[in-house]
Amino acid sequence: MSDAVHLILGDQLDSNSLIFKDISYSNRIVMAEVLAESISKQRPSSRQRSVLFLTAMREFSKQLIEDGHQVEYFNIRQAIESFSEALTIAHKKQVFNQLKVVLPGDEQVRLELKNWCNQNRVQLVLLEDQHFLTRPGEFQNWMQGKTQPRMEYWYRHLRKTRNILIQSNGKPVGGKWNYDQDNRRPFSKSGPQNIIEPPLTNNLQHPTVKQVIEDINQYLPNLNGNLKSFPWPINRTQAQKQLAHFIDFKLANFGDNQDAMWQEQPFLFHSLLSSSLNLKLLHPQEVIDAALAAYANEKAPLNSVEGFIRQVIGWREYIRGLYWLQKSNWQNINFLQASHDLPSFYWNGATEMNCLSQSIKQVIDYGYGHHIQRLMVTGLFALLYGVKPQQIEAWYLSMFVDAVAWVEQPNTLAMSQYADGGFLASKPYIASGNYINRMSNYCKHCKYKYNLASGESACPFTTLYWDFVKRHQQHLEQNPRLSMQVKNWLNKPKEEQTKILQRAEYLRTQLMNQPDEKTCSI
Ligand code: FAD
Ligand code: SF4
Repeated sequence: MSDAVHLILGDQLDSNSLIFKDISYSNRIVMAEVLAESISKQRPSSRQRSVLFLTAMREFSKQLIEDGHQVEYFNIRQAIESFSEALTIAHKKQVFNQLKVVLPGDEQVRLELKNWCNQNRVQLVLLEDQHFLTRPGEFQNWMQGKTQPRMEYWYRHLRKTRNILIQSNGKPVGGKWNYDQDNRRPFSKSGPQNIIEPPLTNNLQHPTVKQVIEDINQYLPNLNGNLKSFPWPINRTQAQKQLAHFIDFKLANFGDNQDAMWQEQPFLFHSLLSSSLNLKLLHPQEVIDAALAAYANEKAPLNSVEGFIRQVIGWREYIRGLYWLQKSNWQNINFLQASHDLPSFYWNGATEMNCLSQSIKQVIDYGYGHHIQRLMVTGLFALLYGVKPQQIEAWYLSMFVDAVAWVEQPNTLAMSQYADGGFLASKPYIASGNYINRMSNYCKHCKYKYNLASGESACPFTTLYWDFVKRHQQHLEQNPRLSMQVKNWLNKPKEEQTKILQRAEYLRTQLMNQPDEKTCSI
């Protein structure tokens, strides 16, 4: 009989985590590549995502073994279905009476472990995930008495209490809490200049990556997506390299054009750090410290540094707080009662809408899209068209290298699809093709006209925008930030309204009856 087994999940690859506190070399560590996380019917993980998770896990376990730990590692070749199955095998091998695990980032996994422990009379010890700035209970306390939380105030709370960009008089550095208005500029006509390639372009040659790809080709041959390039950090050393590269070559330009998009440019000035943060290869504090040091050394302006820190401690920590606050509510929410299936072009990019084709193809090739591509292209189309929220949510979870339930579900279901009815976001993030045209050069390469709402050349985003305003008129007119759009719809001549609604109906019929996913005509 052994006392405790320490379970390390695929997104808990941190050698400073609480799981290692008081551990001795005789303690058993279990790590498992399970099929439920790779090829489950509802959420089949893509090639890019699977290679990243499995490689990073194998790299981490190799390090643990080199450090002298005992690791029982279940490889994908063993075809273990679930964490429960892995634990049952470990338990049969040698009975244990305690399972220690850092709080999983997915409520469903926490429930699975709890059930397994109950059934096997094993005590479950959940350890704090110290990989965030927020301490247990802090978000819940801050939420007391709030009916509608807002990220901005949570962000200010964290800045004040952690003394981040705060002057000695308690005011924010530069006099403003937020430089968001300076961070929404499109690129000039000549497009983004001096974009440097990500530093890890040779990762496909890394021996662990090669071995994982071989295993995937053999044991999980039908995963979605491509593997022509694989720029993602697979261990802490690589993650540190990615961070240094961002600080040296991109942070200075991060602010101004944070929301902008450009044809054939998947990464622009974004940090590409989300997967390393979410796998826990990097701690948010060290990422913030690096950005603050760049500001102190005058390597980057305040709007870039503040804008970046707001993403990392504002959005990231806020989203996590909301995930755990609403943990049981994410599965079935559908405030707008959206009822359509996800168009099949989401899986192959075969659409004539250039913005979607660009954004989806880069997800297929790299498992990546930046925030505005996710929110205002792939997410926006699903929202306007009326895709069932759980279907688009499953797509995000499957396809993106940084997708873990705690961060992906609130972003997709609440921020992007408004499926929570406005608890997270004060309004649905809706826009017509005008927004995409303003923030990118996609429309210049598209067969549709962003400013037309009806007729054969009409931009489907613009048509479906007005269709959405009409369908949700009652809800939108109560929102001071959107009631004007309802008035604009009502002020359109009846004949124009009819043409727009007919075009919307045509788009629906076409998308619902796609004869073959390779020949989508929209
Ligand atoms: P940068 O643009 O360089 O931003 C810096 C960091 O800020 C990111 O690395 C990330 O850690 C953090 N960040 C920024 N915005 C958010 C946010 N809204 N929520 C949480 N962290 C944020 N992020 C994920 O990490 N995993 C997801 O599965 C995920 N799904 C999303 C789904 C939708 C529909 C939307 C709209 C957003 C989603 N995001 C998700 C948030 C955001 O798009 C990504 O974190 C970001 O694009 C990652 O790229 P980057 O590292 O280059 O980020
Ligand atoms: Fe997208 Fe419409 Fe612009 Fe085409 S015209 S790229 S569909 S927004």
